Formats: sequence, structure tokens, C-alpha cells
Amino acid sequence: ATPLAIASGVQTAAKHGIVVAAETIFEDAPDVDIVALDKTGTLTEGSMSVDSITVVNGEDSDVVLERAAAVERLSEHPIAGAIVEAATGGSDGNESPDLERDTIGETRVRSDGGSLPPVESTADVGAEIPGVAADDFERATRGVSGVLTDEDSDLETRVFVGHPAYLEANGLSVPTDLEETIERARHTGDVPVAVGWGGDARGVIVVGDTPRADWLEAVETLGEGREIVVITGDEGGAAERFDVDGVDRVFAGVPPEAKAETVRRLRTQGTVAMVGDGSNDAPALAAADVGIALGSGTQLATDAADAVIVADDLERVADTFSIAGGTHRRIR
Ligand code: ADP
Ligand code: MG
Repeated sequence: ATPLAIASGVQTAAKHGIVVAAETIFEDAPDVDIVALDKTGTLTEGSMSVDSITVVNGEDSDVVLERAAAVERLSEHPIAGAIVEAATGGSDGNESPDLERDTIGETRVRSDGGSLPPVESTADVGAEIPGVAADDFERATRGVSGVLTDEDSDLETRVFVGHPAYLEANGLSVPTDLEETIERARHTGDVPVAVGWGGDARGVIVVGDTPRADWLEAVETLGEGREIVVITGDEGGAAERFDVDGVDRVFAGVPPEAKAETVRRLRTQGTVAMVGDGSNDAPALAAADVGIALGSGTQLATDAADAVIVADDLERVADTFSIAGGTHRRIR
């Protein structure tokens, strides 16, 4: 009867848009004490968009946006999609959307080859953004970088795009004026993405994301009998808006590589399920007793998951637990 119960559990799950990747989920899910949820794409819609761009004096916001997009084209993070879309006006080839643009502060362009001539023309920035040497592209957990080559001078510049801490970790300094823009964005719950080259951050692209409409309901159902923890790489309002009744703990400012460590610490307190998109949080999914991948599109990665919710519906996480519970009772 046991293989039959499992087969029927797999089938029931499939009917609900849940693909069971490891049958151990029927054993482990009913024991889960703590559910850890990633933020971007799990609690939020993950369809981010660019709200504004602020550059330091002496930089052109179009150039900063284009260079950021040239590098982000090779990334699959939702932030990357937002930046490429803003630079290209989307796949329909329309003009760039109206962005709020701002120039602040003193010119802080360093003399050591920091300023490149602008990329050829905005019109060239389409499906194929020229200038990134793909083998020089680097994906870090908190950002991306790539080398842009100016075709006339052959001058190469590595452009960094990501969390301000990512630029700082790579030796770029963030001017005080941009720090203020960063703090303001965090305060309103948006995500500030820093762009820089030649030793300095040149601008901040503010990206917005919307919580899923049903996130609190879904989390309250999930929290019946389980502790709910939110883990995010972001700080400020973007993290705080999930710090409400129904959520027991919020870990903010946790870089993806530290998420797995957070999960391991939680496991000293009970059996842990981790829910994320499985992309840059794959190690955290793998570190949990139960890993559940939820999301949509190219970002959803499934290798580290015990179950994959292809329906992209947060309420299906609670369904996963009840299906596993029902199946487990029949296995016994
Ligand atoms: P969350 O914890 O909300 O799911 P992530 O762990 O995916 O977010 O990313 C955390 C932060 O790292 C982002 O908010 C952003 O600041 C930075 N980051 C990661 N990947 C990129 C990228 N491709 N471009 C720009 N910033 C990035
Ligand atoms: Mg994430």
C-alpha cells in the first residue's frame, strides 16, 4: 500500500500544480516547525520595475541606465529584467518609459580612466545590447559586473551593478549624496541598485516590487502550527513591510550566500522548510529539511527543491503541506 499512497500523493500534488521532486517530502513536510520564506518572487510578485534613476553630477542618466542594462542582460534576477526593460522600452520596442531622473551632488569622476565615452546611441540598445564581453561577465550573489568595451578607443571598463555593499566590496566608493538616495529608497520600501565603474558609484536605479495581493492570507494559513520566518537580502522598508502579525521573525540584509547559514541555524530550533525561487537561494533550499521552489519564468530553478510549485501561487505552499500530511498518514 505504501507505494500506492505515494503515487497517489504525487498525483494529487500534480493536480494542484505541485511537482514532487523528492518523495521524502511526504516524510518530512508533516514535521516542519519553521517555514522560512524568501522575499523577492516568493512574497512579492517578482515582476519588478524601475521607478527612478539618480546620477551624480557629470553623468548622464541614459548612459548609466544603458551600461547597467548591458551588464544585467546576462543576469536572470528580476532586478535585471526591470533594468533591461527600462533601458530598451520593453520587448515591444517602444520608447523608454517615463522615469523620474535626478542629478545630484558634486562631480566625482576620478581621473584614472573612470569616464568612458557614452555608448553609441540609445537606438542601438535593443534586444542585443552591444559592448559586453560575455566571458568577462561575473555574477555575484548581490549583483553583477561585466566589461564594456568602447568600440572607438578599445577602452575597457568593468561596470558593477548591484547592492551598494556589492560595489563597496569591489572597492568602489559610494558618494554621500547617493547614500541619501539609497536611504530614501529603502525608507519607502523600494530597492536601490547602485551602478558604478572606475572606482565610484555613478548612480542609483530605484526598483520597485509589489507584495503578492494574497501574501498575508497565505502566510497566516501556513503559520497555523508553524513558525513563519522571512529572509531577505534587502534592508529598510522592503523588509519591514513583512514584519507584521502573522510573521514571527524577519531576517533583513541577508546576502544569498548567508541564507543557507541562516537556515542551518534555524534547524537547531526545529525542522525547517525553505520556500524560494531556487535560483540564487538554491543553497538555502538545499540546506533546509524541505525545499520548495515557487516562482515563474526563467528565474525558477528546481534542482535544489523537494517540490516545485509550477502554479506560481503562494497558497499552494500550504496545500503542499496538507497533501504531504494526508499522504503520510496513509503511508504509516
Ligand atoms: P531577496 O532576498 O529579496 O529575495 P535577493 O537575495 O534575490 O533578494 O537579492 C538581494 C539583493 O541583492 C537585491 O535586492 C539587490 O540589491 C542585489 N542583487 C542581486 N542580484 C542582483 C542583480 N542581478 N542586479 C542588481 N542587484 C542584484
Ligand atoms: Mg531571491
